[in-house]
Amino acid sequence: MEHDIEAFRRASAEASDWIAQYMGDMARFRVNPEMRPGDLIDRLPPSGPESGESLEQILADFEKLILPAVTHWNHPRFFNYFACTASAPGVIAEMLTASMNTNGLNWIASPAVSELEQVVLAWLRQWMGLSGDYFGEIFDTASVSTLHAVMAAREWIDPNVRMNGITKPLAVYSSDQAHSSIDKAVVAAGIGLRNLRKIASDDQFRMRPEALREAMAADAAAGLTPCCVIVTAGTTSTTSVDPLEPILEIAAVHNAWVHIDSAYAGAAALLPEFAWMLKGNERAHSLVVNPHKWLFTPMDCSAFYTRYPDVLRRTFTITPEYLKTTGDPREVSLMDYGVALGRRFRALKLWYVLRYFGRNTLQELIRGHIAMAQELGRWVSADDRFELAAPVPFSAVCFRIRDSAEKTRALVSAINSTGAFFISQTVLKGRYAARVAIGNQATSRDDVKALWFEITRLAGLL
Ligand code: PLP
Repeated sequence: MEHDIEAFRRASAEASDWIAQYMGDMARFRVNPEMRPGDLIDRLPPSGPESGESLEQILADFEKLILPAVTHWNHPRFFNYFACTASAPGVIAEMLTASMNTNGLNWIASPAVSELEQVVLAWLRQWMGLSGDYFGEIFDTASVSTLHAVMAAREWIDPNVRMNGITKPLAVYSSDQAHSSIDKAVVAAGIGLRNLRKIASDDQFRMRPEALREAMAADAAAGLTPCCVIVTAGTTSTTSVDPLEPILEIAAVHNAWVHIDSAYAGAAALLPEFAWMLKGNERAHSLVVNPHKWLFTPMDCSAFYTRYPDVLRRTFTITPEYLKTTGDPREVSLMDYGVALGRRFRALKLWYVLRYFGRNTLQELIRGHIAMAQELGRWVSADDRFELAAPVPFSAVCFRIRDSAEKTRALVSAINSTGAFFISQTVLKGRYAARVAIGNQATSRDDVKALWFEITRLAGLL
């Protein structure tokens, strides 16, 4: 079947009109769908069509069948997880990327993928104030970026690991607030959850360096090798920031790899007032920040940086004849820096986004989100019925109804069942809390005010 270019032109114009209307009129949708598990499966045929169907028909069915099952992450009243944005430049770049379908597995397979990735990650590195020796590459998610950090840490600690596997027990450290992707990385890298130490956090949910020092010393004395410390700059529940500099000093005693998980809050390092957060990065080994979280780039785009690209190359380079390239010293083949061979052209959307907004507008948007969260935090504190459950360093607010986990739980559920807002929950030091994360480009102070109005109204009915 040949491409029917005229049919494509018509159908893609129709799809992009649909997208423009969708983006401009988000308010007409519930943020979260009203459905039970299995509803969509039940609405669709159990087997695929024998004969092809028209693009117009497929778009009509997308609207009728698929859309009602979608959670609208691009909605300005989406306050769950970490709110994010597929901005217009990112969407356009995704269309171009899909049309080219270029695969940057090595340099020659698509020079643009390899080289643009290095250029845009250097721009972002500079804007975040990272030291100039960080080499960057793009993965799909922070989970995969952190897995690569842990695998590099194994190689760093024991260069025989590539040939022999793990022959001596290794230990990995994070705070008790770290994301579950750390646990998964430890499982996938063969280190074992038993050897993951969740170091106690303080009353502001930051890793306690003294507890880390004790744990690393105890492991070393017991014959384990401290391998990797994961520092979170912006934890998932409360966005707390672990103290990087003291941790670096402690890790250095054991020559352990230090990975910074700033998947969400790394974006705030674009603001000079948050430079403190990554102070000392020039002594860390790797870092992850997700432009698909708070840098207005569509899923998926996770920027992984390391000061030791040679360790990644040592870990992952395997070059059969069919993957050989030119051998030019300026050539970078990203297949040598990770598990995956095939590589989507994710750099294009980041290039579009960084150019379209520029550093100034990105800073304004991020500052605006932080100001909205802090104002919400003040409203919570000023209302006797509520209390803040954690400080508000960035754009997420954790709060509860005073002394009532049950009512707080009921409040989260009541808000989410309106369909007008979508918020989340967490447990902090054993206590349940509601959580509101602000981060969509279109979210305004009015959206946050409307949410607060709804919170107080529904709390009054409990
Ligand atoms: N690290 C932190 C601090 C996060 O908050 C998250 C997700 O919210 C992740 C890692 C995992 O991100 P991803 O979904 O890109 O794997």
